[in-house]
Amino acid sequence: MNVGAPNDRPIPAAQHAIQIVDAGRTVHNREKPVPRPGPYQLLVKMEACGICFSDTKLLHAFTSHPRKSEVLEGLDADVLAEIPSYVPGPLPTVPGHEPVGRIVAIGDRVRRHRLGERCLIQTDYRHLPTAAANAAFGYNFEGGLQEYVLLDERMIIEPETDERSSFRSARSRAHRRLPWSSRGLASRLRTSVASVAGRSPAVECSSSRTRATPSPALRR
Ligand SMILES: [Zn+2]
Repeated sequence: MNVGAPNDRPIPAAQHAIQIVDAGRTVHNREKPVPRPGPYQLLVKMEACGICFSDTKLLHAFTSHPRKSEVLEGLDADVLAEIPSYVPGPLPTVPGHEPVGRIVAIGDRVRRHRLGERCLIQTDYRHLPTAAANAAFGYNFEGGLQEYVLLDERMIIEPETDERSSFRSARSRAHRRLPWSSRGLASRLRTSVASVAGRSPAVECSSSRTRATPSPALRR
């Protein structure tokens, strides 16, 4: 495992996290362990995370939310067992699927991400179906309302294209252009995130201090 620059603050053993533990019930966990990435995994330190109406849907539905159930294909059970952020069914989860963070530790077999890279984390893993939807970050994989997030390249790399998760069933040109999972931006982040409805970019992040800006469509 490789960790960040020498003058970075050391990665703590425990962190603050917001967890959904049951329908309608959240807790502020001040002692959630910070996982160390395995060979295929990366640890991302959160810099910002939006809170979305969809988070409230998960809060109310919890185990009955179609993205909170088990992954049915795409990853073998032994691989899923190696991913501590995989939390299907009644396991507590961390909401927050609109985050920006920076990679602070990385496994030896990670191919498509670099230490220090800043990334938007893509939410939907279309190649990992559940019974009624698909796996998703902030649902059956823990999300961004915590200080450190663990990702595994075997869940975020699109197997057919070898791209960092993209929307295979994208409905807009913007979707087809955007890599969504992670973009290497050494000094500057300027990425538009398309709305799920595919009408127009909904959020624009720019500069090293990421800020959300309403799109022209939303300003109207
Ligand atoms: Zn959202």
